Amino acid sequence: MAEIRLYNTLTNRVEPLLPVHPGEIRMYTCGPTVYAFAHIGNFRTFVFQDVLRRFLHSQGLRVLQVMNVTDVDDRIIRAAAAAGVDIREYTEKYLEAFLADLDALHIEMPEELARATDHIEDMVALVEKLQQRGLTYTSEGSIYYRIAGFPAYGKLSKIDMAGIQPGARVDVDQYEKQDARDFALWKAPKPGEHSWETRIGPGRPGWHVECSAMAMKYLGDTLDIHTGGVDLVFPHHENEIAQSEAATGKPFVRHWLHAEHLMVDGQKMSKSLGNIYTLRDLFAKGQKPSTIRFLLLSVPYRRQLNFTEEGLVQARSSVERLRNFVTRLKTPKIAPGSNPETQKRIEKAESDFDAALADDLNTAMALAAVFDLARDINTAMDREALLQQDALRAVAAMEKFDAVLGVLVDDDDDKLRKLGFGVAQARLAAAQVEALIAERTEAKQRRDFQRADAIRQQLADSGILIEDMKDGSVRWKYK
Ligand code: AMP
Ligand code: ZN
Repeated sequence: MAEIRLYNTLTNRVEPLLPVHPGEIRMYTCGPTVYAFAHIGNFRTFVFQDVLRRFLHSQGLRVLQVMNVTDVDDRIIRAAAAAGVDIREYTEKYLEAFLADLDALHIEMPEELARATDHIEDMVALVEKLQQRGLTYTSEGSIYYRIAGFPAYGKLSKIDMAGIQPGARVDVDQYEKQDARDFALWKAPKPGEHSWETRIGPGRPGWHVECSAMAMKYLGDTLDIHTGGVDLVFPHHENEIAQSEAATGKPFVRHWLHAEHLMVDGQKMSKSLGNIYTLRDLFAKGQKPSTIRFLLLSVPYRRQLNFTEEGLVQARSSVERLRNFVTRLKTPKIAPGSNPETQKRIEKAESDFDAALADDLNTAMALAAVFDLARDINTAMDREALLQQDALRAVAAMEKFDAVLGVLVDDDDDKLRKLGFGVAQARLAAAQVEALIAERTEAKQRRDFQRADAIRQQLADSGILIEDMKDGSVRWKYK
């Protein structure tokens, strides 16, 4: 098992991951605000978190992951009021859509999915603790955190506190970056708004207090990992630290991990810029879930990823190459036996893959190890030099890689259908193509060349190119 080293935003260094509880990683993930469909920028961050958890699993670690769902904030309150429904009803639809999107992208469910509105009591208790520590003040019914009372404020974002006005306040959920002010822990109710009657008065929680309260409830005072996109470093995560550490007197998080943005034409993909694509937008255009997942994970999480049409085309053909490789490995035409050199070659790919991911989750290097292996083994198959035991070993290696990558299982059409889309570009599913190829092979063996040619023609008409290999196997791809 390779030593896992990850970049830590808190220390600005790549550091070994040393769990608080041996053998277990407790990880908190800032989840979606369910006021609209999530866009694929959001999913870049969620796919990164999924690759991380799958990799930790593959290394024999238990993972306890909590993801919050923000189902109360200014935007939700406004949107629900405009739609004339209560916030629970309004957010339900987007939460369901979010879960369906996670499923389509093969993103594993966290152990705990925590809705903010189910945890009001935990938030109230945290605010009370901060009140007892003298870190809050009340103004016009809202309770604010006094950041001047927490000298370590700024340690994550390295924000310069000079020139920050003590006592300047903000109580909206979204505010400008680089603007450090006392933030609202608890917001006074406004007429017509959803509010809760609590020990600290009527109102609703601020956004930051949600994450601190729910993270510590399920994961303890000190978490191993906390993740999110880079836009959350300040102020959201800085405020989480201020709340949690002031309440417990203990370090809140050992390892802070932040994913860089998905960009469009040099700008962050974001709803406010209007340059977003939802998954459903892309599916409606004939894209497959596996293409999007592959594209999002192909660039290491600390590098920005530019979203382009060309990137989608490449991602799609990369997934096809990997799937075709595994199909070819499973052809029965391979001679029995094993070659120690080939076994060594496969072992090297496995250790290169793990080493790349252990090095701050370098997915580009990990994929290079997979494609290098596929190339070498394909070459051996072209020469009819691959033996049965080695082919099985290569299949097992590919399955191991896919436990992290999550793109080999060809269920794209099922996932699309579940979301109400037809199959991607009305093309034959891989399983159908393979069934036709098998039928053609069998027709040829029966010397029924008319049937064999008819199947070749049917495949060509459906946009599928086939190539007969020397070893009797058939390779295929979409045109
Ligand atoms: P939100 O629903 O806005 O709270 O965002 C959910 C997650 O998506 C957060 O971790 C954000 O940091 C992340 N995120 C938002 N926009 C992008 C983007 N363009 N690229 C990558 N991650 C993003
Ligand atoms: Zn959060």
